[in-house]
Amino acid sequence: MGRDSNRFFAFLILLLLLGPGQIFAEDSIRVVTTTPDLADIVRQVGGDRVTVTSLTRGSEDFHKVRPRPRLLNSVYRADLLVQIGLDLEHSWLPQLLDAARNPRIKPGTSGFVNCSAGIVPLDIPVASTRKEGPDLHLKGNPHYNLSPIQGRRMVTNIIEGLCRKSPQHCEEFQKRGAEYLKKLDEKIADWKQRLKPFEGASFIEYHPTWSYFAKDFGLKIADRIEAKAGVTPHATQLAKVMNIAKQKNVGLIISRPATLDLALKIASNCEATALVLPHSSSESGTLQGYIPFMEHVVRAFEGNLRLVQR
Ligand SMILES: [Zn+2]
Repeated sequence: MGRDSNRFFAFLILLLLLGPGQIFAEDSIRVVTTTPDLADIVRQVGGDRVTVTSLTRGSEDFHKVRPRPRLLNSVYRADLLVQIGLDLEHSWLPQLLDAARNPRIKPGTSGFVNCSAGIVPLDIPVASTRKEGPDLHLKGNPHYNLSPIQGRRMVTNIIEGLCRKSPQHCEEFQKRGAEYLKKLDEKIADWKQRLKPFEGASFIEYHPTWSYFAKDFGLKIADRIEAKAGVTPHATQLAKVMNIAKQKNVGLIISRPATLDLALKIASNCEATALVLPHSSSESGTLQGYIPFMEHVVRAFEGNLRLVQR
């Protein structure tokens, strides 16, 4: 075997040991995010200074993600970790961080970005009773990504995190971040205008997911199929939801894929529409990107809410 082929094999072994990211993208910041919304925003702000991996694809229940080896590998290599926080990832992310033992992205270090910084949580449980089971939202509702106005916080926290990690490129991150925020603000104005006629309209959701969205657009959550976040509803709760759906002239019932039959049953009783709505953008397909995802959501509400009789 010649010297050249020896060199080639040595290079291959090095590649396998270090991984391609470490050889070809020396200058780029390896960012891991817990959701695709965050991954999209990091790409928008970071441009070609970042290589981004989302630990979820978008369709999963973010409260219950299975920590697979592929995820461990990404966490192990990351320079920066971006999370939603408010305990959304508390059943799986700490385990992954423990297993990866990557000191660069430990909570409290400059490599850890908690996007819930500055968010005022909604739906904080008033009294913590464990009668029906533990509440998944003990620190309040973590689904603030569904508010485009709170979504601005994700952008500003990400700009700050990237600047901390790479101060020499901070100006660039701030410039791209400001451009993205301008685009988001224009969309928010458009979404507000389109949903304005539905102000005060009621809908029902399965899990406490849409509180921030409802607040942004002046909509009302008439009731929830889950009496408590993460707890399977009893027959008495379902009967109560059915009554409320009729009384409050509910036009839309938002479900998860697994509970659509239940939502359809409630909807048929009050002639509403039952819909499965995504709770995040996606890493592939038509729902890629935070703004296109929010556009999809607004269109679904616009097409299915019932106008309030004034
Ligand atoms: Zn939740």
